[in-house]
Amino acid sequence: MIMRWLKNNILPFIARHSSTTGLIRYAGADLIFPFYHTVSDEYLPHIHPLYRPKTTKEFYEDLDLLLKYFQPVDIDTVYSHCSGIKTIVRPSFHLSFDDGLRGIYDIVTPILYKKGIPFTVFVNSDFVDNRNLFFRHREALEVQSIDPDAFLNEKRPYLSTVQLKEMQRKGVHIGAHSTDHAHYNFLEEKQQISRTLESCAFVKKVFEQKLTTFAFPFTDTGISDSFFEAVYPVVDLTFGISGIYFRHNGRHIGRIDMEKYGCNARECINKALLVKKYRQIWNSSK
Ligand SMILES: [Zn+2]
Repeated sequence: MIMRWLKNNILPFIARHSSTTGLIRYAGADLIFPFYHTVSDEYLPHIHPLYRPKTTKEFYEDLDLLLKYFQPVDIDTVYSHCSGIKTIVRPSFHLSFDDGLRGIYDIVTPILYKKGIPFTVFVNSDFVDNRNLFFRHREALEVQSIDPDAFLNEKRPYLSTVQLKEMQRKGVHIGAHSTDHAHYNFLEEKQQISRTLESCAFVKKVFEQKLTTFAFPFTDTGISDSFFEAVYPVVDLTFGISGIYFRHNGRHIGRIDMEKYGCNARECINKALLVKKYRQIWNSSK
């Protein structure tokens, strides 16, 4: 109870008033994974009722902060580091974007390509080419009395195969994010495994990449060890949310939600670094 109170009240305060360089050293974080969904200067009716994406101005500010303290690395470098082939020596980051939204093609790719920042986009096989709507996006549209199917056909809110292949030629890595973005905690383990492997097989077949990566829809909390054992022969790296951590021999990687708290990059990163240190202290005191 006291620890939770400290985490929710004291950590954000310290995060706002600490130096990032000091915290990187203090937390011992050599590689971080900030993630977003999209970037937009316009109101997006399928997104804004759920969370607020960064504007382009805010995104540029986030990138300035990240580039000040960390160097950008691509997914191959991440894999080499996590599998112990070649260790990263300077503090580094790898960016990713979930749900395969079209703003990644329209807005994010041109910005990051120009800056030479490699990144990963995690797509749901059911939404690529606007075949179907994510149920949360559908709900957001319905509460505003917008016809979800008409919206899907007219606005084409998700990335197409053609757009993804063009992004791939610019160095973007494509990862899987399940078939339909179900809550894995509500599924039987057999279904969790099949939806994971089906989405990974789709990405592998269409994009023919060396590495197979997967980011959990919603959360990686509550996923059993046997799930990881079942998917790792096929999947090289898996990604969760909730901060900075490496589990399952470095193959399961935590990411930092850059949209969740509505704060700037400095606060998000500092808070994640502090939570990492706090977890180390908490675990060693048990
Ligand atoms: Zn998602």
